[in-house]
Amino acid sequence: QPVIGVLALQGDVREHLAALAGCDVTAVPVRRPEELARVDGLVLPGGESTTMSRLLESFELLEPLRKRLAEGMPAFGSCAGMILLAREVLDGRPDQRQLGALDMVVRRNAFGRQVDSFETDLDFAHLDDRPVHAVFIRAPWVESAADEVEVLARVPDSPSAGAAVGRIVAVRQGPVLATAFHPELTGDGRVHRLFVQTVRAS
Ligand code: GLN
Repeated sequence: QPVIGVLALQGDVREHLAALAGCDVTAVPVRRPEELARVDGLVLPGGESTTMSRLLESFELLEPLRKRLAEGMPAFGSCAGMILLAREVLDGRPDQRQLGALDMVVRRNAFGRQVDSFETDLDFAHLDDRPVHAVFIRAPWVESAADEVEVLARVPDSPSAGAAVGRIVAVRQGPVLATAFHPELTGDGRVHRLFVQTVRAS
């Protein structure tokens, strides 16, 4: 069984561990470099990207994590995790550190200007035809992405979507997947299973 870590410095770690429990993997929390070294793939949870970035530095995980990502370790980030994985963040804190595994620019708290949370049904590439119910909580969106970044989902037109219509909210680049929303909160294991497939394939 592949070993999948969940970065456990801050955020909705338990929800990701629970979502992975249904995926035939060994799911473990990761707080130390030795634990990171043992995983085949890593989930970066939702939470607060600025806090997680500071904790990555104080737990001496930032450089080891950058190195493993550069070596091709599969990763999946939801919300704050998506922000951390991106090359650049708009509306971030000046001391916020980026992992740079996804060649894209994200805008932090992009939806939050209008509403703190927002829900919609999305078409999501590489899943079956059922839409994914997406819960956005002070979520980022992808402002721009390189051609190498595959767009998996965008916000569909709806009366409540406002300025978010058409924004990119799920992506994949090589073995790295990210969603601006929280598949770990809705009991729909399909996005986690898509990530597990990537880990098995690599
Ligand atoms: N707004 C948070 C951040 O900037 C992300 C919110 C979330 O993960 N639900 O990190």
